[in-house]
Amino acid sequence: MNNSLGNLMEEAIKLIKKSDNIYIASHVQPDGDNIGSILALGMAIKRLKGKVNIIKVDDIPSDYHFLPGLELIREHDVGQYIDLFIALDSSDIDRLGLGKEFASKADKIINIDHHVTNDNFGHINIISTSSGATGEIVYEFIKKMGVKIDKDIATCLYTAISTDTGSFIYSNTSYKTHLIVAELLKIGIDNNHINVNLYQSRSMERTKLFIDSLNRLEFFLDGKMGIITVTQEMLRDNNAKLEDTEGIVSFIRDIDSVEVACLLKEIDKNEIKVSIRSKKEIDVSKICNKFDGGGHMRAAGCTIYSEIDTAKELILEEIKMTFR
Ligand code: 5GP
Ligand code: MN
Repeated sequence: MNNSLGNLMEEAIKLIKKSDNIYIASHVQPDGDNIGSILALGMAIKRLKGKVNIIKVDDIPSDYHFLPGLELIREHDVGQYIDLFIALDSSDIDRLGLGKEFASKADKIINIDHHVTNDNFGHINIISTSSGATGEIVYEFIKKMGVKIDKDIATCLYTAISTDTGSFIYSNTSYKTHLIVAELLKIGIDNNHINVNLYQSRSMERTKLFIDSLNRLEFFLDGKMGIITVTQEMLRDNNAKLEDTEGIVSFIRDIDSVEVACLLKEIDKNEIKVSIRSKKEIDVSKICNKFDGGGHMRAAGCTIYSEIDTAKELILEEIKMTFR
């Protein structure tokens, strides 16, 4: 952690200590890093101050239902006075969905994140793009707060870091990732229990959707690019949910010829969620930025507001351009 990040953390901790009404929110379609980070920090703040409010912005995917502290995530009214709002793992304020209404009412915003595309929307911005997960930053933050990292907090942090680094294999994994995870294991978390829940509990519906999706895999650019579209009809046919698309895009990237993998999910007739991954060369955050999305060099996303065939053409064109 560099010095200025350390100073920003101290400033943020002072703010937490003097604030009474603190709100934390997930982003829309939350992932493991987001949920793990909000729960870990939420539990730490609760321990420090006796109280914390965690806003339910979206459904929590079933993958994370085993996490301790989940009962802290609740629906809240926007009406109340908010003196501090904390955003985690969200690169811009629109990612917060309903949380944006709470954030815009708050006296102060702390923004803790690791996305290169973060636009510093907070009053205090703790952005570390070299961190594999927001959970790594939160680990340092909680230590600086002086709160003991117990097994519950450590379980949430491990989940955050493991999911965002693809079980410690993605290029965002650093020696610091491993040092932090070593500390979490030392605390005595049950990593086998966590890993079984995260990676070895795939439902039959998800498995069927996976098979159906792979049957529709298309390649472009001599196999350098692979793309799958998942429609609402496919979800219905397989009795699956949107969250069951987890794992499809990384499977496409794992194919030897593939540099860029793309998954299009039909949220609604004119709302297509795009997930893009790359392996070694292409900066996919730049592609998603063109559609008002964002993310990291090797993993990014955006939403295209058109029908799925049009969205596919638009994204294919952008991806092809990056290879020219
Ligand atoms: P995923 O493809 O798994 O939804 O997201 C991959 C990465 O891109 C994550 O780090 C996620 O936060 C980011 N991301 C996904 N969708 C969006 C989006 O619509 N806007 C921004 N700014 N980032 C996104
Ligand atoms: Mn993250």
